[in-house]
Amino acid sequence: MKKIAILGSTGSIGTQTLEVVRNNPDLQVAALAAGSSVEEMERQIREFRPALAGMWSQEAAADLRNRVRDIDVKIVAGMEGLLEIAVFPECRVLVTAIVGMIGIKPTIAAIRAGKDIALANKETLVTAGHIIMPLAKECGVSVLPVDSEHSAIFQSLNGEPGGKIEKILLTASGGPFRGRTREQLAGIQVEDALKHPNWAMGRKITIDSSTLVNKGLEVMEAKWLFGVDLDRIQVVVHPQSIIHSAVQYVDGAIIAQLGTPDMKLPIQYALFYPDRRPMTGKRVDLFELGSLTFERPDTDTFKGLALAYRAAELGGSMPTVYNAANERAVALFLDREIAYLQIPEIIEEAMEHHSLVSDPGVEAILDAEAETYEYIAGRMKR
Ligand code: NDP
Repeated sequence: MKKIAILGSTGSIGTQTLEVVRNNPDLQVAALAAGSSVEEMERQIREFRPALAGMWSQEAAADLRNRVRDIDVKIVAGMEGLLEIAVFPECRVLVTAIVGMIGIKPTIAAIRAGKDIALANKETLVTAGHIIMPLAKECGVSVLPVDSEHSAIFQSLNGEPGGKIEKILLTASGGPFRGRTREQLAGIQVEDALKHPNWAMGRKITIDSSTLVNKGLEVMEAKWLFGVDLDRIQVVVHPQSIIHSAVQYVDGAIIAQLGTPDMKLPIQYALFYPDRRPMTGKRVDLFELGSLTFERPDTDTFKGLALAYRAAELGGSMPTVYNAANERAVALFLDREIAYLQIPEIIEEAMEHHSLVSDPGVEAILDAEAETYEYIAGRMKR
């Protein structure tokens, strides 16, 4: 029996992870955490019977405690609760399916406690990859990618000797606005941006996919996960989202992973690696597809991607500013307080305003996040 804990169990990745648990009787859920979705958490506790469950706010935790008082489960709250779940002795793997930089401290705690990490929470690596990856190595734990592109790269690296990568080919669907000009993007509404052509995901990441900021975050994630320099990570727009990403080797061979867009595959692969378990569901039918197409990303229109490379090149605290500014800008867009094209504008302004801290520790990363939020709040008042 493999026991797992899930941070962010009520979200898109979290619920799909639980679907994988339903299909694999030798997986057991030992601990769960969510933000405020108390009803959903109650349902999950009744079905999966974890020993430990956490909510972000004290009120939500109190409400949950009251709802499940007939069940033997300990309810915890806040960062303390997330940390308790992260190091829960019974668990072997922590699935980080939480959204945002709130995942940094629990991920570090879990690594120190010797847990393998099934990592969906890309913000953790983007902002603290320089801390997480060396620590994982030191503690002898694996950081297994859940993000479909990174899982594809991971699968394409299987069995290959290290140090032979020429290039990582990171595929992108191009989002719902691929091929449009900046002028055409000016009037984009929230409803338009929430329609992803191929993947069903949470709201924030769906907007990030439409701006190519998600791809920018993935470039930074790939850099840390696979130890590859930025100039060897090439984003390739591939609208059919069938090739989930590929690795080009020193002899020119390209090895790729293909599949239907279904996050359950990378989740299951991370949970059972190096085993490959059966999975039902739709298969790619190459005859039905007929052809696959590829384009260069338009970084003049989708400036979010170019800004990600700039943030990653500068390094230090700049990826944190990029991520935090985007997070706030997307929230403002979803609240209809700013226009779509202001998302990259705000990221760029925040990056220009920031004084770089090189090699930041966790507190300096969180300070850079707070400072970015403050800067944007001040900008919105002007
Ligand atoms: P969702 O918004 O769907 O879910 C986020 C989860 O985190 C929810 O369970 C939410 O709980 C929980 N959460 C939020 N804040 C807190 C908090 N302070 N404390 C505890 N739990 C909290 O996000 P996604 O599942 O889409 O994404 C999760 C992560 O995975 C992100 O980093 C994303 O970039 C990455 N990812 C997502 C993919 C996808 O297909 N969705 C693909 C690849 C990566 P509540 O419901 O109570 O708010």
